[in-house]
Amino acid sequence: MSETMLKPESVFECFAQVNKVPRPSKREEKMIEFLLEYGRGLGLDTQRDETGNVIIRKPATPGMENRATVVLQSHMDMVCEKNNDVDFDFDKDAIQTYVDGEWLKAKGTTLGADDGIGVAMEMAILAAKDVKHGPLECVFTRDEETGLTGAEGMQPGFMSGQYLINLDSEDEGEIFVSCAGGCRTTATFHYEEKATPQNQFFVKLCIKGLTGGHSGDDIDKKRANANKLLARFLYMELKKMPVLLADIQAGGLHNAIPREAMAVVVVPTSMKETLRVDWNLFSADVEEEYRVTEPSMEFVLETADATPTVVDRSTCDRLIRALQGVYNGIYAMSQDIALVETSTNLASIHMVPERKTIEINSSQRSSLLSARHNIADTFAAVFELAGADVETGEGYPGWKPNPDSHLLKVTVAEYKRLFGKEPVVRGIHAGLECGLFSEKYPGLDMVSFGPTLRGVHSPDEKLLIPTVDMVWRHLLTILENI
Ligand SMILES: [Zn+2]
Repeated sequence: MSETMLKPESVFECFAQVNKVPRPSKREEKMIEFLLEYGRGLGLDTQRDETGNVIIRKPATPGMENRATVVLQSHMDMVCEKNNDVDFDFDKDAIQTYVDGEWLKAKGTTLGADDGIGVAMEMAILAAKDVKHGPLECVFTRDEETGLTGAEGMQPGFMSGQYLINLDSEDEGEIFVSCAGGCRTTATFHYEEKATPQNQFFVKLCIKGLTGGHSGDDIDKKRANANKLLARFLYMELKKMPVLLADIQAGGLHNAIPREAMAVVVVPTSMKETLRVDWNLFSADVEEEYRVTEPSMEFVLETADATPTVVDRSTCDRLIRALQGVYNGIYAMSQDIALVETSTNLASIHMVPERKTIEINSSQRSSLLSARHNIADTFAAVFELAGADVETGEGYPGWKPNPDSHLLKVTVAEYKRLFGKEPVVRGIHAGLECGLFSEKYPGLDMVSFGPTLRGVHSPDEKLLIPTVDMVWRHLLTILENI
């Protein structure tokens, strides 16, 4: 199939135009200019705000003037990833697309259908003469991909619609009605270096090969947290013997479930065998507990080089107890839909000898702001008890499911009428721009959907062509019937 024959033609024509415009996150100037020209070229009321978000207003078609205003929203930036062997400048070059069976792909780069296809649908509706709709506001936000800063910078009053359809979802047939807000909490222990006591055994303990994953999206997958496993073993041993630490380096990114944890542990030589046996028993127990979700978990114990100093005993005691005591994983499920409502992830533990600190990073998520504050406080209180300095960042807001949403009712009904099947109504336990809108525009009725994408944020990104037409038809019938 040739690219010029893809349906709906108007949408794919607009997508081809979008692909000629460079639009890396935080460097969207050319795209902003392009959208302003596009709106003005159509003779429509077109504005940008200080942040760089663009709004193009299209009046209602005849007979639809009394309808409520609908906002269509997508983000103009894209993730710029390419294969090493591809010569490509994301600040200048046009994305080269090609058709492979039912999929549209790019040659060695991200396709930018996330969210260029949403942008293209809005452009097609703005230009369309044969579509029925009430007053429309087409909104294009900048910098969704590296911090949601476009949506964050948008001032109340920029949009005036009562309904908002976000076109940035990746599974046709799924309608999103909720997302999580999040924040980060850090705990810092200040330790003293003490001379290593006599007759100590130095051992390096490693837990690795865990599945890991995204700390929001994958928190319900019953996977193990390497940091918690390590802490659990240290706490068990602490009840039997004095345990000192010469090093601890565990976990990584704040938004990832940690896959590896390592500590250099110092115990009296007389306890060496006990510790070895306990480690073997512990690893057997944990392997049994996680035999389904963690098939390639590894437990490694090896003798480590002795060091002249170790972390002071009080800090070791308090740290190990706090790491054992702190809650981790899903904290609450949503009462409205089958979705994680609130969770917390113990992301990393790093000893930093230059500062004589042990620094713990974590993230908390919830679709409810008050519940997120509660789980962040739960995390903080444990480490405060243990004498650490605790700080919680400001975070970003979530989007709570609204069971009375009129827009959702119309969206579901029109989907069933068009395709003869129920769409899946769901939420995501991660951040979306809708979270920020719900904070700035209380009462704004929102849904999010879009055509099927795979491999997003990588050069394997691809768009399932037939789903674009499905989403397009769905969108038009919602606009006609809301
Ligand atoms: Zn996106």
